[in-house]
Amino acid sequence: MVRRRIRARGIVQGVGFRPFVYRIAREHGLAGWVANSPAGVTVEVEGDAASVGRFLDSFRREAPALAQIDEMAVEDLAAAGDTEFVIRESGGADAEFVLVPPDIATCAECRGDFTDPANRRYLYPFTNCTNCGPRYTIIEDIPYDRPFTTMSVFPMCAECQREYEDPGDRRFHAQPNACPVCGPRLDVPLEEVRGLLRAGQIIAIKGLGGFHLACNAEDDAAVRRLRERKRRSDKPFALMAWDLAEVERVCLVSEDERAVLTGARRPIVILDRRPGTGISEAVAPGNNTIGVMLPYTPLHHLLFGDGLNILVMTSGNISEEPIVSRNEEAPARLGGIADAYLTHNRGIRTRVDDSVVRVYAGRERVIRRSRGFAPLAIDLGMPVRQVLAVGAELKNTFCLTKDHYAIPSQHIGDLENFETLEFFEETLEHMRRFFRVEPVAVAHDLHPGYLSTRIAQGMSGIPRVGVQHHHAHIAACMAENHLREKVIGVAFDGTGYGTDGQVWGGEFLVCDFAGFERRGHFRYVPMAGGDQAIREPWRMALAWLRETFGGAVPELPFLAAIPERRRAVVEAMLAGGVQIVATSSCGRLFDAVAAMLGLRLETNFEGQAAIELEAVAAPGVHEPYPFEVDGAAIDLRPVIARIAGELRQGVPGPVIAARFHETIAAIAVEVCGRIRAADRLERVCLSGGTFQNRRLAERCLDSLVCHGFEVYLHAQVPPNDGGISLGQAVIASNAA
Ligand SMILES: [Zn+2]
Ligand SMILES: [Zn+2]
Ligand SMILES: [Zn+2]
Repeated sequence: MVRRRIRARGIVQGVGFRPFVYRIAREHGLAGWVANSPAGVTVEVEGDAASVGRFLDSFRREAPALAQIDEMAVEDLAAAGDTEFVIRESGGADAEFVLVPPDIATCAECRGDFTDPANRRYLYPFTNCTNCGPRYTIIEDIPYDRPFTTMSVFPMCAECQREYEDPGDRRFHAQPNACPVCGPRLDVPLEEVRGLLRAGQIIAIKGLGGFHLACNAEDDAAVRRLRERKRRSDKPFALMAWDLAEVERVCLVSEDERAVLTGARRPIVILDRRPGTGISEAVAPGNNTIGVMLPYTPLHHLLFGDGLNILVMTSGNISEEPIVSRNEEAPARLGGIADAYLTHNRGIRTRVDDSVVRVYAGRERVIRRSRGFAPLAIDLGMPVRQVLAVGAELKNTFCLTKDHYAIPSQHIGDLENFETLEFFEETLEHMRRFFRVEPVAVAHDLHPGYLSTRIAQGMSGIPRVGVQHHHAHIAACMAENHLREKVIGVAFDGTGYGTDGQVWGGEFLVCDFAGFERRGHFRYVPMAGGDQAIREPWRMALAWLRETFGGAVPELPFLAAIPERRRAVVEAMLAGGVQIVATSSCGRLFDAVAAMLGLRLETNFEGQAAIELEAVAAPGVHEPYPFEVDGAAIDLRPVIARIAGELRQGVPGPVIAARFHETIAAIAVEVCGRIRAADRLERVCLSGGTFQNRRLAERCLDSLVCHGFEVYLHAQVPPNDGGISLGQAVIASNAA
């Protein structure tokens, strides 16, 4: 007889791990017990040596699909003479470290339950089991047990209790287990809600991580009304489709995209849309892609039918404020938008938006990391000090580190208003408690005006580490790819504060976690009126043309659309150097070219012009424009000159857009080649918001690989500023 204790760490709670252990222990005829611990799961098994060996094999190989074992320690104990195997109640919380599971989309078996007229959960919108359902959004504290969730106010009925206590049941220790008798309820019958949606109304629907605003995506008038009321002039709305067939009716879906759409995380997937599908044009004006997700809770599944196949499901908020999650705040904050409400009485402890991903370069790439991902830890493959990194300004996330992990927060949003700041602070307080993190340093961006920087400065008694924006971008890419040695970092980005006080964004770095050298950058151009130049890409086009042609700017067609007085003001700024910041931004260069092509002179949201430039770029065009590299400065004036010339010759915009993308990829190859020759570095990390552009990312990747580089992209955190906090965290954790 032998006895072994096994301690497993990772994602082992809330994913059906204890019933799994119970089952395999019994299969191998072993005695002992299994329990959740704050650090993961602890098991003791006793039996003959061969059976224990087979048990350990199964333990490693057959773990539930949603589990993730990061660490497993086995020790020998003296036999205790146990005769049966039991599941023990969870122990209390101590100072150890546990990973908290994210929310998981409804599983196929639960869907079977609530669609079966004979099942006691028929049409019950809060059906869940050990393999699916709410987790992070309802957890108040760890260990993850019902009394520490917002389900604590719903005592289970006898039947649910029986399932909960039966190790052979799929709902054994499913903490949010519920049924129509004992569980949460909707305040309006679903039939009525479907009727209102069919009638063209906008409904605020309380879901898993907050409210959505929903309307029928095929009802043009309803979508337009939502757009007007939400004051979201052009920013695309996400859609939720009834099933995969409906997604495929409106979009082109690849095999990989299908897997992501139907996976347990159920993010919004950015897909190429098909023309003429009946979806309102107002869903995503001027865009040839569209974000679509499948239902991820029973409530969402049950919204469809009766002629409703596809719904707009946009975050329930006003412009850039955080998503609304409490019943009582909904009327005040969404009253001007929603015609009616669908709420329920299950509390949302933590607000979590839908995640957004795009599939390219062979895998899923996160654009917004929230539901289904947060608060999953990212294994860094190296020990780290405990730090807090507060992130950037736009698309803010923060990040905690501990042990071997980085734990990024869910998407917080643009830190530009009081509500978002509150969301930041409440989430930070919550996550620090969950993960028992006591930061020894706080990392922040160098930009003195960022609210996140000011939050860091307000924390007394803790050393601060300022991290340059693009160094953080590249470090984030290094961290998730487990790179530690020096790399070449290509940061193509919108805006980031440089060490010279200028706006950086077309950067070539040589860096590791300890520091960076700026080895190349796009030649500076003036941004007339600072941030106003971000909202008005024509200002960047004019600046580039003046840089290229001096006073003799060619009269391209787009200039005719600019009121003379406004143009004169900007020309005066550019000529006099008044209200000017210099920028090397790649995002602003994309803006300038989009404006030159007449695609977009003014934007409604960050990156809009660049998205439209990508959208029009013709396939199959591979010839770059000439450019010059002068020391560290990459001179794009020859590119602008050629584009101006081609526009005058009547070369079609899509061809120019394609050649421009090729040019940026060619610049990456050229400059990385020079750095390789000087430093013998082969590894290249690509990061920055501009790499959300699939065409650019794929062309840079392919060209660099062709030239013998080892190229790394983001997958787990966004290339945009949502990934900054991870980079800041590893840099600060690495600082002495
Ligand atoms: Zn389930
Ligand atoms: Zn019940
Ligand atoms: Zn950035």
